[in-house]
Amino acid sequence: METIFSKIIEKKIPAKIAYEDEAYIVIHDINPQAPVHVLVIPKRAIPTLNDLVEADRELVGGMFLVAAKVMKQLGYSDYRTVFNCGPGAQQTVMHLHLHVLAGRPFTWPPG
Ligand code: AMP
Repeated sequence: METIFSKIIEKKIPAKIAYEDEAYIVIHDINPQAPVHVLVIPKRAIPTLNDLVEADRELVGGMFLVAAKVMKQLGYSDYRTVFNCGPGAQQTVMHLHLHVLAGRPFTWPPG
């Protein structure tokens, strides 16, 4: 299924790319919720966390390695990571992605 992220991966629409390799693209969120707000997106489209299968273990683990690498490059060691899963949790793009936010204090519980 085509989504805004598959279009970005295929370079059909532009995005501010923070990092890219053969398996992932990291873009700056168009509507940032913190001074730094990037999205770690696997190029292989998986709609939601509910769609993961055993074979995705490495791909999803790699999302956190990419997140840590990019945040280090951007100069942050403190950041918030979020997966929204399903519309009830505010997932709006049905292509798996990890939000990584930094540059302001965070509170708990999240909204
Ligand atoms: P979620 O609501 O968890 O599905 O997150 C989707 C995120 O994608 C939101 O934070 C949006 O602001 C962001 N977003 C939507 N369209 C774009 C775009 N064209 N470029 C960058 N980020 C986008």
